[in-house]
Amino acid sequence: MLRAVLLASALLLAPIAATAQDFSKVEIKTEVVTPGIAVLFGAGGNIAVSHGADGTVLVDDQFAPLTPKLEAAVAALGATPVKWLINTHWHGDHSGGNENFGKAGAMIMAHDHVRERMAAGQPLRGDTVPPAAKEALPILTYHDGISLHLNGDTLRVMHAPHAHTDGDSILHWETANVFHMGDTFFNKVTLPFIDLESGGSAYGLLAAADKVLALANDKSVIIPGHGPLASKADLAAYRAMLAEVIAAVESAKAAGKTLEQVQAMKPAAKYEVKGGFISGDAFVAAVFSSEKGHPKGMQPDRSKDVMGAKGAAEHDHGGGSHSH
Ligand SMILES: [Zn+2]
Repeated sequence: MLRAVLLASALLLAPIAATAQDFSKVEIKTEVVTPGIAVLFGAGGNIAVSHGADGTVLVDDQFAPLTPKLEAAVAALGATPVKWLINTHWHGDHSGGNENFGKAGAMIMAHDHVRERMAAGQPLRGDTVPPAAKEALPILTYHDGISLHLNGDTLRVMHAPHAHTDGDSILHWETANVFHMGDTFFNKVTLPFIDLESGGSAYGLLAAADKVLALANDKSVIIPGHGPLASKADLAAYRAMLAEVIAAVESAKAAGKTLEQVQAMKPAAKYEVKGGFISGDAFVAAVFSSEKGHPKGMQPDRSKDVMGAKGAAEHDHGGGSHSH
């Protein structure tokens, strides 16, 4: 059983960091952002810890085998055990510890589509991720967002529609002036991964960057999904890169060029990161295939979905008239 869990985790890790599959060797590094908020770097997505008199909030939880190390890192901050856990999106390098933390009593929160995709199982980069255990599923879900009033701050959790996936949350601690953008922001470590199969889109990614740029100032600290802590200027540079590649791909497409022809023009080459897991060609392909509005993504059979046709139409899986 443990072996199966490790294997499943390793498969999920592969697209993010193929070298880090031996979790016993992973060291959790803690960086204090501001009193009461820290970031844990290990294997997988960057984790935020928000702690204080009211309790501890964890944002993302990497992979299941790392849970004890993460719990130790939380304790080392002087924080109490995790009471609330927020997933920025469903990918296993951000939600792999859910079952452990859920069983330990944490209340797991995420966007509606995170729960739906985890519950149903999901294709991802050539693999199929099986349905998650019940204890791993978010029990408190939201569509547009949710606010937590804790530890002397207001934490706004805002949905960023159809960006990295269709279930992304962006977090803003208003008083601390700290953001966590999940995988809507890859900072310096690779070109962005846009999960089209999960309803992601380059246009939503651009909108997510704009949403945070509008709220941030020069003193803001921005936690990306992967990579080092960022400033507003770092995010602005990322946003400019996105806009430039999108514009180049759009104009080539409008001129009738095929994907292969657009890739041959290398519009993202100068932004490629050595060792990054998304190449310029892969990023251009994702931009080329990105839809505006509400891309549906590739989803498991939902014909047995309890929501039924009416509920599904009111939801935003491709519902043309639904607006966010
Ligand atoms: Zn992701």
